[in-house]
Amino acid sequence: MPSQPPLHTAVFAALDSSALVLTANQRAARTLAGVYAQRMRTEGRTVWQLPTILAWESWAETLWQQLVLRGAETRVRLSPMQERLLWKDILAKDAEARTLRSPESLASLAADAWSLLARYNGIDANGGISRLRAQFEAASTDTRTFLRWAQLFERRCRKDVLLPAAQLDAALIPHIAQSKLFIGHTEILLVGFDRMTPAQTALCDALRASGIAVTMHTLPDEQRSLRILETTDEEAEMRAAARAIRAMLTANPQARIAVILPDVPSVRSKLERIFLSELAPELQVAGAQAPRPFEFSLGVTLDRIAMTRTALSLLRWTLHPLPLEEVSALLLSPYLAGAQTERYARAVWDAQQLRRATLLEPEISLAWILKQTQLPPMLRAQLSALQKLVEEKRPAANARQKKPALTSYSTWMEHTAALLAAAGWPTGSDRSLDSTEFQLQDRWQELLDEIATLDFTGERVDFATAVTAIEGATVETLFAPQSHNAPVQIMGALESAGSVFDTIWFLGATDMAWPAAAGTHPFIPWTVQRDLAMPGTDATRALGDGIAITKRIAASAPETTFSFAHRGSEGEQRPSTCLRKLGDAEWLRDNAITLPSAPIITLEEAPDDITLPALPDAVMRGGATILKLQAACPFRAFAAQRLGSTALDSTEAGLDARERGDMIHRVLAAFWNKVLTQRALQQMTEAERMQQLNAAIDIAFSRFTADTPWEKQYLQVQRDWLLQLLPQWLDYELLRPPFQVIATERTLADQRIGPLRIEMRVDRIDAALPDGVIFAESEKQDAPLQIILDYKTSNSTEKSWDGPRPDEPQLPLYAALAPEETLHGVAFAKVRVGDMEFRGIASSAEMLGAKHVAQEDVGYRVSEWRTVLTQLADDFARGDSAVDPKQPPETCKHCEQKPLCRIQELQAFAAEDSESEEAQVD
Ligand code: SF4
Repeated sequence: MPSQPPLHTAVFAALDSSALVLTANQRAARTLAGVYAQRMRTEGRTVWQLPTILAWESWAETLWQQLVLRGAETRVRLSPMQERLLWKDILAKDAEARTLRSPESLASLAADAWSLLARYNGIDANGGISRLRAQFEAASTDTRTFLRWAQLFERRCRKDVLLPAAQLDAALIPHIAQSKLFIGHTEILLVGFDRMTPAQTALCDALRASGIAVTMHTLPDEQRSLRILETTDEEAEMRAAARAIRAMLTANPQARIAVILPDVPSVRSKLERIFLSELAPELQVAGAQAPRPFEFSLGVTLDRIAMTRTALSLLRWTLHPLPLEEVSALLLSPYLAGAQTERYARAVWDAQQLRRATLLEPEISLAWILKQTQLPPMLRAQLSALQKLVEEKRPAANARQKKPALTSYSTWMEHTAALLAAAGWPTGSDRSLDSTEFQLQDRWQELLDEIATLDFTGERVDFATAVTAIEGATVETLFAPQSHNAPVQIMGALESAGSVFDTIWFLGATDMAWPAAAGTHPFIPWTVQRDLAMPGTDATRALGDGIAITKRIAASAPETTFSFAHRGSEGEQRPSTCLRKLGDAEWLRDNAITLPSAPIITLEEAPDDITLPALPDAVMRGGATILKLQAACPFRAFAAQRLGSTALDSTEAGLDARERGDMIHRVLAAFWNKVLTQRALQQMTEAERMQQLNAAIDIAFSRFTADTPWEKQYLQVQRDWLLQLLPQWLDYELLRPPFQVIATERTLADQRIGPLRIEMRVDRIDAALPDGVIFAESEKQDAPLQIILDYKTSNSTEKSWDGPRPDEPQLPLYAALAPEETLHGVAFAKVRVGDMEFRGIASSAEMLGAKHVAQEDVGYRVSEWRTVLTQLADDFARGDSAVDPKQPPETCKHCEQKPLCRIQELQAFAAEDSESEEAQVD
């Protein structure tokens, strides 16, 4: 039977003699209570008295409640949230508090300063800081300002009979001295206190003076196995730890292992990724449900958890429009009713409707979404219910004064619960919550209840203020699901106090990170902080504390490894000074130790003989894009056009570059549909031309609905831009030989190129008019001397039509499908500020009168293009899906298929092959 750790022996002995065990943190109290229960079970007991093990904070709270119940105290103890509200209230009335910092952050800073003063005996017996006034007045503007706020805070606490939380220890002392408190124990054992605050020390002294024996447990300094491991970088350090831990767990699945870090939040996601891949790679698969072999002791704040983020987004959405990404995340959230049933429909709506919508404003309102067609029905029902509740149930505003409704926090919290219920948060009707989600729902409800207690000031607020209070509270509130006693516990250095383990791995023991540097507080004069021995004022004491904690950690397990990386995100790193004080430790480099290799996951082999189904005999979506992608990279065409793999569009507010280009097409099409010929353009006055352009813009803009002033202004800006750009283009068109526009935006339905059936739209077809003839509608189709034009707002050249893999096959494809006898030219029409021109080929150099239009045998060139394009169409139809980018890495730069084609891995293999070939040659 393994020997019992000395800590457990001391705790059991204390409990056996009816002593009270006080721990520095809740974690240690929970762990020791668990160990005690295990001991009882091992001894064969089926019932036993609960051990008197309490965290200091909980114990002090029970003593205070005792005083309140017995009428010995009337002061109401403030919660941290209530305390911050008081500070915010005081700051709001102070003109000097209107700085660049938000009132919330200033209030937090002031509350922290007060709490520091309370814990380091800076508060007088009467609840103020008058003893330190001279130092605050002499130090700086900040300290003088804080002194003023602190005096108001103190007065408010006295008037309303309130007790700030950090003053609790000091507030208990007179009651102990006057024997008004029933402690219930003659002995107290303190466990896991790396450093007590002066207020705690004073309380312990008062207990001792009242005849209670208070002793501090310290871990014995026994012979232990100590290793210090140096690695090249942080990734290698974390992987070394994870692999060593995997080996330990393989050898002993019951081992209790602690991973300790100086600052868990800063590396949490990286560590989680690496530990998951090394300790439980099978759980990386989406939907895997088994418990992980590791857990973080410290939770994450509620604002970072998907379920509560959904609730916050919903509440914000009832107040104002939200950015697209937030709306998108909300609509796809599993925490809205119907999310399970409509999962696919909602994803499709998000990808194909929402993200492709032309948004004139940067944010999306609830009302806008409800106007959209094809919204999945359950989603529409919920959002409608939410909207209705927003309109109907919100407490009435003062309509005459146009002020928002004001009421109590508790009323707003009820309204909040009703809004979320209307949206089906968090379960909806088609799924049930798992255990963690249940706990989270309870925590959320507690949070709302806590916010309702802000009514203690009697203040009435609007809904936006109530939502801000909820948001602020979620940022401050940590949530950790109930522990499932995973063998590997990940925690901070202070959290580990009061617990012992079989093995400890301390990661990140660098001189920058450990011991953690404590800063001084800007609102408290440095002399006060130094005199009261606050953190950050004495480097020698801070180092001494760091060394003591390092030694305590080393003494908390038979085997401990401290590790550090030579290179971190900020550059070169050195080992922590504390490591040199550890005595007999073995220093190792990572290349000097043998670690197990990475876990291997076996995948089923894919069969070699995959035969693609034949293309359906129907018109394919995509038009010329199919051939463009096939020319760029066969795999890209295959993935996008046959597998339907596309990236989500990220809609930006207003018109993006493509949409602005499209707008130019539409306006010029509407203009030429009316004006028809160059001669008509020549004969127009300036005013007529602008009038015609304005009318064309009206037609192009008719697809937008501009309801808000923002949207109207945005469209006006776009109109001004078009009215500046397009007259310049029309001037350029006047320099050409005479022409007639015979088609705009013409759709070529069901065209064949090789085995493919496609549909296309041609921007514009002109006919040259050497003799001034004008073609009637019925003659346009067969008009001679036709030129196909493609508007471009990008920098395109006719070189993009060349070769077996053309970059821009669109115009060659139009040409290949056009009647040969009438086609005499193809050209890009570049409508760009400062770069307006035609570029292309024509059977006569004069046809477009432009220096970049080359005279060529158009028929011959078109037949070459037809051959190339037919080959590409054949390749696509055959299922040629080779990963063969035309010009890597340029072709791959913006390609969305990288996760599927795995080009990087192929390149890595190719590089390895060439290295081994070189090695053979050598
Ligand atoms: S990333 Fe490159 S290789 Fe992969 S599909 Fe795209 S273009 Fe082809």
